[in-house]
Amino acid sequence: MNNKTIDPLMAKIISLCKRRGFIFQSSEIYGGLESCYDYGPLGVELKNNIKRFWWNAMVRMREDIVGLDSSILMHPRIWEASGHVAGFTDPMVDCKQCKHRFRADMIENDKCPDCGGELTDVRQFNLMFKTQMGAIEDAANTVYLRPETAQGIYVNFLNVLNTSRQKVPFGIAQIGKAFRNEITPKDFTFRTREFEQMEMQFFVKPGTDGEWFEKWKAERMQWYHRLGIKEEKLRFHEHGKDELAHYAAKAFDIEYEFPFGRKELEGIHNRTDFDLKRHQEYSKKEMSYFDDQTRERFIPYIIETSAGVDRTILTCLIDAYEEQELEKDTRTVLHLSPAIAPIKAGIFPLVKRDGMPELAHKIVDELRTQFMVFYDEGGAIGRRYRRQDEAGTPFGITVDSQSLEDHTVTLRERDSMHQERFPIAQLKAIIQEKIDSVN
Ligand code: ATP
Repeated sequence: MNNKTIDPLMAKIISLCKRRGFIFQSSEIYGGLESCYDYGPLGVELKNNIKRFWWNAMVRMREDIVGLDSSILMHPRIWEASGHVAGFTDPMVDCKQCKHRFRADMIENDKCPDCGGELTDVRQFNLMFKTQMGAIEDAANTVYLRPETAQGIYVNFLNVLNTSRQKVPFGIAQIGKAFRNEITPKDFTFRTREFEQMEMQFFVKPGTDGEWFEKWKAERMQWYHRLGIKEEKLRFHEHGKDELAHYAAKAFDIEYEFPFGRKELEGIHNRTDFDLKRHQEYSKKEMSYFDDQTRERFIPYIIETSAGVDRTILTCLIDAYEEQELEKDTRTVLHLSPAIAPIKAGIFPLVKRDGMPELAHKIVDELRTQFMVFYDEGGAIGRRYRRQDEAGTPFGITVDSQSLEDHTVTLRERDSMHQERFPIAQLKAIIQEKIDSVN
């Protein structure tokens, strides 16, 4: 990221991510690889928890959606059928002076935003990464890294239909990597060239698509509310005629107010019967559905909900970040929802002697069968609390001399900093209840 233009809050988030092991620049010891990031020990927990939160809402808790995990490399004809080979392009311009490259639709006037130089004419740039399959380098062996997970779902429509006992209306959900050779990746992990998507394709009878579109719009917005994102920072944005993708009859984005502007977090699209029709045409396989109750045959319409894992993580971090002015100092705290917090509880022996570490370890062993927990005996207790506040850990559990006598501990709540004694035997239930209250 360009440090000249960085927003102060973003600079703090990026620094926290690195300092605490949420997100690192990829290949850092080699000078870094632009727009690629690695998730550290806390980051991977947060990522897994967010994916699980989505999967639970979209698959586990529903009878009408099933999961899929399709491969990243697919038959190249799929990308011809989908329209990506011909049309998955962004308009690009180069600066004749400093040679920097920009997306033409993101430039305000016709001068280079970096040096004011003259720009080239607009050219169309295809965003798909190409690679070779097999040992022979030949155009016939060209395959693409998928730019979206959706196509893997469409081409498995018949497989899933024939094996899952689902009937239209039903959905297929998938979480997986996608790759786009973005012209100007920027804003930390907001726009990268390798990212992960959480997509759900819902197959409906034509004519019921409007109604399902509205249902999914509402469902998806609620999911972000349940995730703990501040409601006033979220809004819908309807795509105008000139913004609509080639496949979409209607599209709404869920947008978040990022420090760098209001931007898309998720897209909800009415893709009509475009995708299944195209795959039918290109594969010569019948893609229609027979409704045995009404005796009708039709090609289903598709309502798509397409979210980015990395963008959701970034949103959660930004939204949860607070620097709180306390009486004596400032504390940095991440108010992450307990459901997605990387670590659910920090366990601290007040001092490193008198049997306190042993009892604390026993508590760790008991809790770790159910939750991700962290043992810390280093430094003053206040410092240990603060370290966990910064990591977004909802609970701090302190073992002191009283604990050895009556088997109670102090439970400190991250947001209120309120402390109360509880029997060790109740800890599991208290933590679980907190997680369940938002799940
Ligand atoms: P944009 O117009 O910002 O390039 P898009 O409209 O092409 O995005 P979609 O194709 O609708 O995006 O992708 C669905 C979701 O996938 C997005 O809402 C976003 O969360 C995520 N996503 C898309 N591109 C990227 C990227 N380059 N980096 C990170 N996440 C991405």
